[in-house]
Amino acid sequence: MLLLKKEQLLAWLNKLTQAYQVFAPVNEEGCVSFKQIEAGDQCTLDYTNSKVPPKEVLFPRSEYLFCYRCEKEHVELKEQIDEHKKVIFGLRPCDARSFLLLDNVFRNERFQDPYYLTRRKNTVLVGLGCNQPPATCFCTSLGSGPFATEGLDLLLVDIGDRYVLEVLTERGQELLSGMELPAADQEAREAAQKVKEGAAVSSRVTLEGLKSKLDVSFDHPLWDLIHEKCLGCAACTYTCPTCHCFDIVDEAQGNEGCRVRSWDACMFPLFTLHGSGHNPRPTNKERFRQRVMHKFKYFVDNFNATACVGCGRCILNCPVNLDIREVIAEIQGTEVRSNKQ
Ligand code: SF4
Ligand code: SF4
Repeated sequence: MLLLKKEQLLAWLNKLTQAYQVFAPVNEEGCVSFKQIEAGDQCTLDYTNSKVPPKEVLFPRSEYLFCYRCEKEHVELKEQIDEHKKVIFGLRPCDARSFLLLDNVFRNERFQDPYYLTRRKNTVLVGLGCNQPPATCFCTSLGSGPFATEGLDLLLVDIGDRYVLEVLTERGQELLSGMELPAADQEAREAAQKVKEGAAVSSRVTLEGLKSKLDVSFDHPLWDLIHEKCLGCAACTYTCPTCHCFDIVDEAQGNEGCRVRSWDACMFPLFTLHGSGHNPRPTNKERFRQRVMHKFKYFVDNFNATACVGCGRCILNCPVNLDIREVIAEIQGTEVRSNKQ
């Protein structure tokens, strides 16, 4: 463990921006999100959690996959792989964990996504522990915590006028090259321990038995009610660090164009609309069920992990206060019925 004085932070960030694309929390009119910064003073570490998760650094809202030009039978292709070295600075431990979940989607036996994977390989993650987790967080129910280090290269623990720096990987160590930081002394270690013990995550959900309930609940009448106040706006999915649905379109003119991938969401009716006009998820009921099933059943079936990190963004951002913790509790409280009853 090392010690970093707060007044050293600016110089460190400035130095990092010389060698890396640095994405850090930026406050724009009260809305914090991860933006590329040119200088350290653009970053704020005084925030609870960002409105939009930093997944957009590795999986942008919209990106060119490749551009093409057709000449008779010849097609000229130019891939748009982003190979810049990056640092995501000041992300929360839950968001670092979301990358471990997304890795399953973008790198598995069937699919290797070079766009995500190249960025992932070239990105170093510097976490910031949560001294005061908001009431909507329930990360500890998902096997994480406000100072969890899983997936991080470095972790900063704010102890007032200084940070205790936990160096977790060689890549994290490299970010500190040329800086002569002292080892954290006994007093700083104790202060960090005290901060960790004081960071209580009061909100919990019970996942035990949830998957086996969902296994037999596809046709449960619960779904007829539970979605009722949902507006289908997809704020929950757009701001979720683990949601990863996308659409691909060609933007073309004449004989040339580009293939573009953009975020999409299972909460939108067009997401599953077939060319025939048939929609297998025609109402909010089926779409809301899909969102819950995907996170807590299908992802578990496919990757043996729950696709939620308990960040609470879907709770904070839902305009009608539809709370995923209450949804889980309702499912837990239902009688188990067999499918197709
Ligand atoms: S944010 Fe709320 S209202 Fe909007 S789609 Fe999600 S659950 Fe429905
Ligand atoms: S489902 Fe909600 S609480 Fe879970 S990771 Fe997504 S936004 Fe966060």
